[in-house]
Amino acid sequence: MSSTGASLQLPLSSPLIIKGEEGDATGGFVFERENPANTRQVATAAAEGSLEDVRAAIDAAREAFDSNTENWVYNYKLREQVLFRTAQLMRENADRLAKVVSLEVGMPMRQAVPHVAAAADIFDFYAGLAGKIYGETFTLPTGSMINLVKEPIGVVGLITPWNFPLTQTARKVAPALAAGCTLVVKPASYTPAASYELIKLMHQTSMPAGVVNLVSGPGRLIGAEMVTSTKIDKISFTGETGTGKDIAARAAHDVKRVSLELGGKAPYVVFDDADIDAASRAAIFGMFRNAGQACGATTRLIVQEGIHDAFLSSVVELTRGIEVGDPSLQSTDMGPLISSSQERVVQEYVDFGMDAFKLVTGGNKLHGEGFDNGYYFEPTIFDEVDNSSRLSQEEIFGPVVAVTTFKDEEEAIHLANDVDFGLVAGVWSADYPRAMRVARRIRAGTIWIWDNYAQPVEGIWGGYKQSGIGRELGYYGLEDFLEVKQIFTDGTGLTMKPPYAQVIKQ
Ligand code: NAP
Repeated sequence: MSSTGASLQLPLSSPLIIKGEEGDATGGFVFERENPANTRQVATAAAEGSLEDVRAAIDAAREAFDSNTENWVYNYKLREQVLFRTAQLMRENADRLAKVVSLEVGMPMRQAVPHVAAAADIFDFYAGLAGKIYGETFTLPTGSMINLVKEPIGVVGLITPWNFPLTQTARKVAPALAAGCTLVVKPASYTPAASYELIKLMHQTSMPAGVVNLVSGPGRLIGAEMVTSTKIDKISFTGETGTGKDIAARAAHDVKRVSLELGGKAPYVVFDDADIDAASRAAIFGMFRNAGQACGATTRLIVQEGIHDAFLSSVVELTRGIEVGDPSLQSTDMGPLISSSQERVVQEYVDFGMDAFKLVTGGNKLHGEGFDNGYYFEPTIFDEVDNSSRLSQEEIFGPVVAVTTFKDEEEAIHLANDVDFGLVAGVWSADYPRAMRVARRIRAGTIWIWDNYAQPVEGIWGGYKQSGIGRELGYYGLEDFLEVKQIFTDGTGLTMKPPYAQVIKQ
C-alpha cells in the first residue's frame, strides 16, 4: 500500500552541503530513512556525516561570518533578497516539498501543503525585518553619546526535530539569517531530506557559500560536536526536554548562548458555558494533527463537570470520524506514527491507561489491508484520568488524550498548571473576562481563547518552565539571534575628564 512516494524518485538523496558544495559524507557512509506509512519502502538515503564533516561545516560558517562582513553581516539588502527569494522558491516547489515532508514524516498531504506555505511565510516575514534592525541612542548631559547597536550573535548551530521539519527549520534559519548570522544545520535523522530540499533551494539564491551548511547524521555525534565547539556562538535547539537539558548543561561549559524549544503537555480548559461545537472541533485539531506528534498538541482535556458528558460525546463523535490511513490521500485525516519505537512508546502508555482509567475510544494499533506495513494507531481518548498520573504528566507524542474534570475556576487553573511543562494551553468559556482571567494565570508561552494551535508568524512561540528558553517567531524570534553592543563616544572634548582624577593627580 501507500502511494505516498508517488511522483518522487525513491529513495530521495540527501547529501551534505558544506561551503556551498553538495557532497557525500567522509568515508561515504549513508543511512536510510524508511517510509513510516510503508516500511517496505526506503524514503531517503542520507549522508551520514562524520566529526570531520561537521568540523568542516563549522569552519565554513565561521569563515563566512568572520571574513564576509561586507557581503553578509552588514549587507542587509542581500539578506533580505536571499530570504524573499527562498520564500518564492519554496512556493514554486511547494508540491515537491509537501510530498517529501509527507513521505518522511507520514504527515497527511492536507497538512503537509499548509505546512510548506507556513514555512514560506516565515521566510517572507523575516525578509521584511532584515533591514529594520534598529538600535537605540541616548545623549548624556555632557554631550557624550551612547549608541546601542544590534549585531548578529555569530555562528549558530541549529538542531531541529522531525515532526514539522520545514517550519521548525524556517523558524530558526530565517531569523538567524535576517540577523546576519551564519549557520550549521543538523536535521533530525528521521527527516534529512526535508531539510536538504529547503537548504538546496536556498543555494539557488544569491546567498554566499558557507552561510548555511547542512550536516545530517546522528545527534549524539554531530549535534554534540556543535554544542561543544568553541567556534559556534549559539545553539538553537528544538526537541525533547531531556535532550535540551543535556545540551544546556554542555553548552554552559563555554557560556554558549542557548535557546531551547522543548516538550509540552497542553491543557485545554472547557467551562460549562463553552460553545460545544466550536470547542470540540478546535480540540480535535490540536489533538490529532500530525497524529498528536506535536509539542503543542492538546493532550489534556480539563472539562467542567456540568459540560463533561455533552462535550466528551461531541469530541468522541468527531474522533470516530477521523480517517487514519495513507498520508498521500486527500481523504486521510491522520497518518502513521514516525517509527516503530514511537509506536512502542504509544502502546506502552495506552496499556498503562487501560489498566488505570476509562478508555472511551481507540486504544489499538491498526491492522489489516493498508495498515500492516505502517505505524498506524487509532486516535485514543481516556476519561476520568488522574492529573498526577503518567498519562497526564509525561509527553507521549502520539494520538492519546486524557480527560479530567474540575469543579470551579480555581481547580481548573491548578490542574492546568500542575505539570512540568508550560508551552501552550486553550481556554473555552462564553464569559470573556473569565477566559482572560484564566489565560493570565496559566503559566505557558501561548494561551488560545476560542481557538487552538494558531501559530501566526507575527506572534511568538516558546515555553515557560521545562518547555524551553527563548521565543521563536515574530520580532522576539529575531532578537534570539542578536547581541546588543554599546558604543560610547565622548562629547566633551576634554583631555582631563573629571573621573580621571581618581587615578591621575594632574
Ligand atoms: P530529539 O530526540 O530531542 O531530537 C531533536 C534533535 O536533536 C535531532 O536532530 C536529534 O538528532 C538531535 N540530538 C539528539 N541527541 C542529541 C545530542 N546528544 N546532542 C545534540 N543533538 C542531539 O527530539 P525529536 O524526537 O526529534 O522531536 C520531538 C520532540 O521535540 C518532542 O519532545 C517535542 O515536544 C519537541 N518539539 C518542541 C517544539 C517546540 O517548539 N517547543 C517543536 C517541535 C518539537 P537525531 O535525530 O539524529 O537523533
